[in-house]
Amino acid sequence: MRTTFSKVEICSSKSGICPICKKRAERRKTFCQTVNPWNTDSEGNMKTREIINSELRVECRAWKSKPVLHARCETIDTKWRDYEAI
Ligand SMILES: [Zn+2]
Repeated sequence: MRTTFSKVEICSSKSGICPICKKRAERRKTFCQTVNPWNTDSEGNMKTREIINSELRVECRAWKSKPVLHARCETIDTKWRDYEAI
């Protein structure tokens, strides 16, 4: 049996007021993981597409719940830097 490694991807965007410069900001981010034998859960089982998908959704939701910063503003104020570190 031939195994092909497929990629699971979620594209997301968010918009709001940047807390640093108080101007409108819009950010896009792609969350992705590959289905492969090395991508395992804490018990060592290979993650299925479904598991990866739900993990990406959690990551995506966490990202969306954080303030929308411009890429340039992120580097200005270090106290916000952790926010986009995912
Ligand atoms: Zn800004």
